[in-house]
This record gives sequence, C-alpha cells and structure tokens, in this order.
Amino acid sequence: MVDEVLVRASETLVAWMEHRYKGWEGAKQFGQTPERLQRMYQEFCWTPEQIETELGKYFKTFENGYSQMLVKREIEVWTLCPHHLLPCCFWVTIGYVPDQRVLGLSKLSRIAEVMAKRPIMQEAYSDELADALMDNLRPKGVAVYVVGTHGCMTSRGVKQHSKVITSTIRGCFETEPETRAEFMAICRS
Ligand SMILES: [Zn+2]
Repeated sequence: MVDEVLVRASETLVAWMEHRYKGWEGAKQFGQTPERLQRMYQEFCWTPEQIETELGKYFKTFENGYSQMLVKREIEVWTLCPHHLLPCCFWVTIGYVPDQRVLGLSKLSRIAEVMAKRPIMQEAYSDELADALMDNLRPKGVAVYVVGTHGCMTSRGVKQHSKVITSTIRGCFETEPETRAEFMAICRS
C-alpha cells in the first residue's frame, strides 16, 4: 500500500522536473515517474514493522556443538544514505563465535539485508547489526566489517571513489585480541 505522503512527495518532485524542463522533448519520459519513485522508495525504505516482522523470521537459532568462529563474507547490501537519499552499497562480513546456538548462514545474509532497509549511516549500520546479533543469537562474540561505496560521494560533490570501512566488535572479539586478529585477517584476505 502506497501512503499519501509518498504519493504527494513523488508528484511534487516530478512536477519540479517538469517545470524545469518545460518544452523539452525528454520531459515526456516523466509520465510514469511518480509511480516508479513510489515503488523504489518502498523497496529501499521498509516500515519499522516490516523490518521487525522479517527479522523475526530469520532469527531462528538451533542448538549445535560447533564452538569455533563462523564467518560469512561479503554479503551485498543496499541502502540509502540518510543525508542525500542516494544509494549506498555495503559489502558486509559477519563473524561470530557461537555459544551452543547457531544461525543458518543464509539467515545471516537476510538479516544483513533487512537491517539496511531504511536510510542508515554506515557507522550506525555496523553497530546495529552487531548488537542485533548479540541480542538475538547470544553468541560469545560478534564482529561486523563493512566496506561501503556511497552514491553521494561517488556520483556527485568531490566524486571520491575511495571506500569507507567500518567495523564493530562485541564480546570475545573485544576481549581476545587473537580472535579479533583472525577475523580481520579473513576480512582482508
Ligand atoms: Zn550522503
């Protein structure tokens, strides 16, 4: 269901485009743009309820005696930067050391994707993802490493193509330097 505010906002933005390019042949392409914008923003920006419901499906843990570090590397995740509403791509690597319970590796990818379904800064994303895994999985520790490219930096302004790297560590990754070092070596290999 498309909400009223989004309908008005998309129509206003397209009205501005039509005004700016009045009389130009290319402006005919804007015909279906409000509907396209609505679908696009709904895809990028889920409601808090949608996010919570979806996460609930993926945080299903099961008992397992495995006690070593598990790492899922380079999960591709898209979000919008909250300052410019331009797409950002995050390559997310998650590591955790289980405490009796594990999570399916495919679930880790889905959780990483769903947590980005709102405009969020990369720093906050790293922290929120690590904390959600700590709270729901109750492992011995969690580490999250994110390499991001931000549309607002690569496509406009100073046009910097450098990558932004953030990492968040919790539990045994904080208290055991060798566990952290092992994880960082995997991230950089
Ligand atoms: Zn931005």
